[in-house]
Amino acid sequence: MNPTPVVSEIDLNADGRHAGFLRLPHSVHRSAYGFIPVPIISVKRGSGPCVVLMAGNHGDEYEGQVALAKLARHLDPDTIEGQVIILPAANTPAVCAGLRTSPLDEGNLNRSFPGNPRGTPTEIIADYLERDLFKRADYLLDLHSGGSSLVYLPTALVDRGHNAVDNRRRLDIVRALGLPWALIFDRDADGPYATSAVTRQGGLGLTVELGGGGAVTPAILSMIETGLHQYLAHLGVIKHAGDGLLDSDCHEEPTLLMIKDDTQYVYARTAGVFEPAVELGVAVRAGQLAGRIHTPETPWQASAECHFECDGIVICRRAMARSLPGDCLFQLGCHLPGDYLIIN
Ligand SMILES: [Zn+2]
Repeated sequence: MNPTPVVSEIDLNADGRHAGFLRLPHSVHRSAYGFIPVPIISVKRGSGPCVVLMAGNHGDEYEGQVALAKLARHLDPDTIEGQVIILPAANTPAVCAGLRTSPLDEGNLNRSFPGNPRGTPTEIIADYLERDLFKRADYLLDLHSGGSSLVYLPTALVDRGHNAVDNRRRLDIVRALGLPWALIFDRDADGPYATSAVTRQGGLGLTVELGGGGAVTPAILSMIETGLHQYLAHLGVIKHAGDGLLDSDCHEEPTLLMIKDDTQYVYARTAGVFEPAVELGVAVRAGQLAGRIHTPETPWQASAECHFECDGIVICRRAMARSLPGDCLFQLGCHLPGDYLIIN
């Protein structure tokens, strides 16, 4: 395999706090010898776990970008036992454009792993992350949200573990994040996702979904800022988490849900304006009305109804009203069967 063309301006092995760019060579008409500047911050002291915190995997998911930019400015090296590496704008061209995918190559970073060192900019970023950065990582937290088209309940996503001890370890990390919802599922280890990539490199990856609709809200930002400190404290990489936040008894238990199959998704089958029939967080039953698609341009035409295909909790809905056939309108989380998650 060819080496990565990406060069880090900072020494990731050095103690202390270092900030700079990963330089991804990019030779184009307006800049023959230029590079794409991907910001990276390393805060390292002594020995301890290495945690990679990443946002901007999708450029239009802003909550994590803001939370990590703030953390990168405020994380004190004197409080660290190990290393925290922060990437607030992982797919920088997508972040700068405010788009899910990169305007340079239409690349969706979270579908691009393991990437290609000789590929498009998005593929080169994926390759660098998987083969260079994630190799260092004991843990990865990949911060997402619903982006422009969806709105999520604040939810932690974690793969089911291999045994009871592994499940307990994963659930304890989810609990430390302090988000009210958790989705547990069996993701393909060969997958194109950042969490699949870190798994291949021997680390433990978690994803969070934090709202969306192309905006940032104070409530969700505050929730994830607290969650990040609790997460780092739980992993032992920061010594304290602030006033009282280390008291694990204060954490609310997240509601555990699972992804079972495609019946948990509701899709538009006609073009028009989506009117949801339910709010996020409610319990629904199979056959229940999910929403209607209206055609105001031909108002005499009856609206098309869409229905839920299984029982569950509404964790995600479409944020944009105007919809086309094939657009995802809802995602449900299903309650876990009793034997799904053995933890004892
Ligand atoms: Zn995303």
